[in-house]
Amino acid sequence: MYYLLPFKFNIFNGKELLINDLGDYMIVPRGTVQRIANKNIEKDEELYKNLTASFFISETPVPELLDVMSVRLATRKAFLDHFTSLHIFVLTLRCNQNCIYCQASSREKELHGYDMSIDSLKKAVDLMFCSPSPCLTMEFQGGEPTLVPQLIRFAIEYAESKNENANKEINYVICTNSVNLTDEILDICEKYKVLISTSLDGPLFLHNHNRGKQDSYQKVIAGITKAKERLGQHRVSALMTTSEDSLNYPQEIIDSYRENQFHSIFIRALNPYGLARENKDWGLYFDRFVDFYKKALDYIIEINLSGEMFIEEFTTLILRKILTPFPIGFVDLQSPAGIINAVVVYNYDGYVYASDESRMLAEFNDYTFQLGKVSDDYLYLFYGEKVQKIAQLWATETIAGCADCAFQSICGADPVRNYSTQGNMYGFRPTSTFCKKHKAIIEHIFTLLTEQEERVLPIFKRWLTGTRG
Ligand code: SF4
Repeated sequence: MYYLLPFKFNIFNGKELLINDLGDYMIVPRGTVQRIANKNIEKDEELYKNLTASFFISETPVPELLDVMSVRLATRKAFLDHFTSLHIFVLTLRCNQNCIYCQASSREKELHGYDMSIDSLKKAVDLMFCSPSPCLTMEFQGGEPTLVPQLIRFAIEYAESKNENANKEINYVICTNSVNLTDEILDICEKYKVLISTSLDGPLFLHNHNRGKQDSYQKVIAGITKAKERLGQHRVSALMTTSEDSLNYPQEIIDSYRENQFHSIFIRALNPYGLARENKDWGLYFDRFVDFYKKALDYIIEINLSGEMFIEEFTTLILRKILTPFPIGFVDLQSPAGIINAVVVYNYDGYVYASDESRMLAEFNDYTFQLGKVSDDYLYLFYGEKVQKIAQLWATETIAGCADCAFQSICGADPVRNYSTQGNMYGFRPTSTFCKKHKAIIEHIFTLLTEQEERVLPIFKRWLTGTRG
């Protein structure tokens, strides 16, 4: 006699994949779930022991190791412990590039009226310090934030002075296209240990096409090289965005990262915001993106097998959720959602948004996720009616489709994406491209883990620990 504990399952490559809320998983023959539910698993079966040890069944109505289970669940949800830690400051909407997929609705760099005022910036930093989180990340975005070095300097110096009493751990990040990394900017980076997060879309022809400028690649590479020389290799990281053209060049993109001495890549799909939302057929794009991702990952695995350590970051985030008990800080894979709980955005015009994507919607006159102004009270902004409304729909555990999905504990909730692509925050999983992409990628990683374990597991473990083989 045994009792069922909560778990979800999926048909997976002719077998059944069982996953519980603690992140334990098992792959078992078809029909096993039916046997478990019918209480047909015999005590002397190996399966019985495995199901018990992995908290799928219990010999007592209340599991003896309930405390262990609760600690493990709390650990997986530990990203909630300290509330908002990532504070994004959109210092300007002006930019010096012209990216075809721009998600930030940027403006020409010569225009006026698109920079954050000192007064708004000061108030935004004050709000950041109201967060209970002992670790804060101030991320400067745009547009192109290096066009306003005086605002970066002011924000950091003001935060440093406030922190003399607050004693928080503060990390600084500038998200830049690296075209304008002047000595002034690098002085600030050196002095305050600022990380540079830049973007490189691949080889010259592709990068310049995506950026809408014929000399972008040379300028970006020169900027990256200069920043690495001045700040150190580890202080400069790059992100790529997969435009429709990029989908044809997985190997070329990865090789361009290697040629420029990067040891990792974050394969990132387009988001349906800003200019990118003009994209024609999102269903087709995501089908092609998943194919691109698989080819890229396979190529990266081959590179690792040849002895060169090169990490795919998105895969590593998912692996951390599958293979370790620890939470991750990546907002797209969190439930409750990363918006507000982990990230908030102070926009150049003095308004506060639930996420980076939320303020991008506002550029199209949709203020659904505008929480208020930087002059508003912290409790009103972060616990007010609007947040309470969003909070009703921000957990995979409670929304239809996700609630009984086998990948629920790995995936995340995104009411902003649901709203933007499907017209309401609740969303509809069968036609959601967010769901389609995550499901396909998570399934692919499970397939690799089960069908190519010997080939990929040592590599994946090294990615998780960051150790070279
Ligand atoms: S979005 Fe899709 S893959 Fe993710 S938990 Fe929900 S149903 Fe599962």
